[in-house]
Amino acid sequence: MRKPLLTRLLKLRELDRVWCARVQQENLKRLYFLALFGVFLSLSQICLFWLLDATGSAAEARWREISLLVHPVILLLSLLIGGLTLRLRRQDNPSAAVERLSTLTATLILAIGLMLTAFDQLVIQGVTPLVAACSVTALLLYLRPFTALILFSAALIIGLLIIDQLSNSPALKLSSTMNSLTACASGLLVSWILYRNFLREQQLRKVLLRQREILKARTRQLQFQASHDTLTGLFNRREFERLTESELSRVNRHPAPLSLLMLDLDHFKAINDNFGHPAGDAVIRHVARLLGEHTRNCDTIGRLGGEEFIILLPETDLPQAQQTAEKLRGLIEHSSIDIDNGRLQITASIGLACLAPGCQTHLTPLYQAADQALYRAKRGGRNRVEHFYFTPGLDTVPAEAP
Ligand code: GH3
Ligand code: MG
Ligand code: MG
Repeated sequence: MRKPLLTRLLKLRELDRVWCARVQQENLKRLYFLALFGVFLSLSQICLFWLLDATGSAAEARWREISLLVHPVILLLSLLIGGLTLRLRRQDNPSAAVERLSTLTATLILAIGLMLTAFDQLVIQGVTPLVAACSVTALLLYLRPFTALILFSAALIIGLLIIDQLSNSPALKLSSTMNSLTACASGLLVSWILYRNFLREQQLRKVLLRQREILKARTRQLQFQASHDTLTGLFNRREFERLTESELSRVNRHPAPLSLLMLDLDHFKAINDNFGHPAGDAVIRHVARLLGEHTRNCDTIGRLGGEEFIILLPETDLPQAQQTAEKLRGLIEHSSIDIDNGRLQITASIGLACLAPGCQTHLTPLYQAADQALYRAKRGGRNRVEHFYFTPGLDTVPAEAP
């Protein structure tokens, strides 16, 4: 259902207030081009008057004289408006001044149109300059609806007076009167419609920009969810594999040591069974935080699932990786986790696979090697670190006795 007229007008008034600065910003651009257009137009008119031969009548000679005076005035006014526009462009908040300059320019355009219409009555009895002035004003400047109403009404009244006083043929007088009325009324209507459309367009742009921001944030959130584990915020298995494959292809091209740690909490099922799953979750989060805080920024940590974590240590040889694994194991062993009904202590077993520089492999063999080392650590009594070392020429993991 269409809203009542008053509500629509109030809405427009509200838009008018909100977008005032944007309207004047647009006017400032247009004023500059309008000034350039004025310079071009007046110069070409002056040239035309010089080039085209006069036919000789006294009225035409008078008209030529006046026109040759008016066009330099238009040239000067255009230069002045152009200069003022350039000055306003350098100001921080020129809205009010731009609005005044726009109203002044619209008034000048209509006044010049009326003046040329008056001079035209000497030779052709038409209202073409008034029609052109109304079109330029309505199409090129954004005027507030009330300002437009005043300007176009005043132009119409003055135009009708000029025609009444200067036109001497009744038929041409009637035609000019109708044309002036049409020009001013259409000018006003076009001005209103363009102004309202501009405000609505700004409003729509704002809504679109806001929706784009929401969409961007949602995409970022979805990308995070697709690549991270929800419980710990660490990389999930898929993202970890992607990052590790890319690091391995880099190492295959530029030989450097690299290590992979697989860490599994010991007897974790007993924690879930004795203290409940929320306590188990708290333990997993606690270990994830410890791993994040005690590894380098360049290390990549992922959660494989359950209570199993995986860490990629680039540029890390076997002694350095063993040192890091021991440090993490010790930190977990000596930390405790507060839960509702007490404190928990846990331990972890770590399997480490280290790739010697120049050794080429993929994620699967490296992963199998770390898993095998972890299995050894579990069998060896848990809370310990075991390793597997890849050297050049050895690129498959030998099966171990169960
Ligand atoms: P081991 O020392 O041999 O590693 O024994 P374990 O008890 O740690 O290992 P097991 O594989 O037997 O048990 C892992 C348990 O982890 C079983 C499963 O219920 C639990 N689990 C898996 N994912 C989650 C989780 O997201 N939250 C919690 N609280 N428990 C989980
Ligand atoms: Mg496990
Ligand atoms: Mg376990």
